[in-house]
Amino acid sequence: MAKAKDTEPRVHPKPQEVPAEEPRGIVLPEGKTIHTIVKYGAELLERPSKAVTKFDDELRQLCADMFISMYAASGVGLAAPQIGLPLRLSVIDTSVGKNPEAKIVIANPEITHMEGEQREEEGCLSVPGFRGNVLRPLFVTVRAQDAYGETFEMRGENLLARAFCHEIDHLNGVLFLQHLSMLKRDLIKRRIRKLRKAGEW
Ligand code: ZN
Repeated sequence: MAKAKDTEPRVHPKPQEVPAEEPRGIVLPEGKTIHTIVKYGAELLERPSKAVTKFDDELRQLCADMFISMYAASGVGLAAPQIGLPLRLSVIDTSVGKNPEAKIVIANPEITHMEGEQREEEGCLSVPGFRGNVLRPLFVTVRAQDAYGETFEMRGENLLARAFCHEIDHLNGVLFLQHLSMLKRDLIKRRIRKLRKAGEW
């Protein structure tokens, strides 16, 4: 999920035609990778992802890389399908890297409780430059596994509740665009089509 107040659309490298099994991006020293974020229009963003079954060092490295990639894009949440991996795995940090304790990994997450309502502007790293009002619950409890496979339950409110919903939506192939009014959604889709024609998407 994009940070609350993003003024300029982020510039990402163009999405390439590479199979989903090969994560793309810039490999940094120490073996860390900033992944390229897949943009709206890629088919895998709109299909459900598969359960995480192996909680090994490779998965933990992937989580570390997802945090790095999310911070590089100034996001507060990133789901594995957004870097081309159809896995039920997301990372969230509503402090955008300011508070190490705010880092959350949710693997195979389920929402167990929702309460209240909030309507705020929302954006997505896969739909850079576009935002819209989305109605979400004010409190959300999630049951998930961490990067070691340990099951935990966590309650979030406000932005964290919104991030839980947004990131879990990604794992089900749902984008925030689907929560907008039809008018607003069509407007954004039309603009993206134009950008794509111009080679700017
Ligand atoms: Zn998103």
